[in-house]
Amino acid sequence: MALTLIHTERFADHETPPGHPERPERAEVLDAVATRWRDRGVEVVAPREASHEQLARVHSEEYLAVIRETRGQARQLDPDTYTSPESHEVALLAAGAVVDAVERVLSAPHHTAFALVRPPGHHAERGRAMGFCLYNNIAVGAAHARAQGVKRVAIVDYDVHHGNGTQHMFESDPDILYISTHQYPYYPGTGAADEIGRGAGQGFTVNLPLEAGAVAEDFQRVFSEIVCPVLRQFEPDLLMLSAGFDAHEHDPLGGMRLDAEAFAAMTMELRKVAEEHARGRLVAVTEGGYDLAALASCLDATIQTLHGPVTAPRWPRSGIASDRGARSAAAASAALKPFWHLTAGSHPASAPRPV
Ligand SMILES: [Zn+2]
Repeated sequence: MALTLIHTERFADHETPPGHPERPERAEVLDAVATRWRDRGVEVVAPREASHEQLARVHSEEYLAVIRETRGQARQLDPDTYTSPESHEVALLAAGAVVDAVERVLSAPHHTAFALVRPPGHHAERGRAMGFCLYNNIAVGAAHARAQGVKRVAIVDYDVHHGNGTQHMFESDPDILYISTHQYPYYPGTGAADEIGRGAGQGFTVNLPLEAGAVAEDFQRVFSEIVCPVLRQFEPDLLMLSAGFDAHEHDPLGGMRLDAEAFAAMTMELRKVAEEHARGRLVAVTEGGYDLAALASCLDATIQTLHGPVTAPRWPRSGIASDRGARSAAAASAALKPFWHLTAGSHPASAPRPV
């Protein structure tokens, strides 16, 4: 098993206003983590910029022109999304990093790649910047994989926010499965369990909304009852991961209670599926994660998981009683029953409600 990290110090050159959570200091964490793993023998490569053709597979021409025009300028694009003079180029490198990651994973079996990028991408819509995101990095990568002849791509998104942009870009496409665990109700407002895709894409959008306060046991439950069964029935040729770490208990934006070991366990669940169905092909890309120390520890745990042998996932125990996961799995199961064989809800949620 080989792991490649795709990263450049240029990711610090996208500046946001003072006090903004998606700040350049996050790039310093990415730098430090990349350096540490390079010293341990992991390959670290710099990305190329995404091409117009690659971006235009998921973004409108009008939107690409809007972002191009921010070159050299500090602009506000939505209530919490800004550009600085170099943001355009940095965003091209972030999207290009996922394209590079996809190409590397497709070129050799049992290869994983992790694009350590900013700005994040999963809120960016076809024609709109949103939620700190300019280009939808993982969507650009998934569309690139399809253009390279990959038949079925599965995207799992464990960022604490719902990836509205990624969902909307692929919601009519039965060849790109989108599965998200996220805090709900919460920003951006989408991601209810009954959002299951449209037209031919019905059943290929899987939402696992979780109430604030969810713990590792809740995530383990939705992974075992929904995420992994759906992935195994879909049989992806490539697995992609929107690796946001803002469901960490110390995150200033998210209200969940995960630690780095929980992110490692979720990542290992996906590696197992990738080994079974996709010749180990797994591409991860960073999304959110706004506590710098938590971001560093989650990145290390995830990289360790992508780099080491495939083992049984080791889910941590919070010891906190919560039925959030059981209720989320039951809601998703009810919405998705026509499309997948699922067993969630066949036994009652027995955990007592937390106080
Ligand atoms: Zn997020």
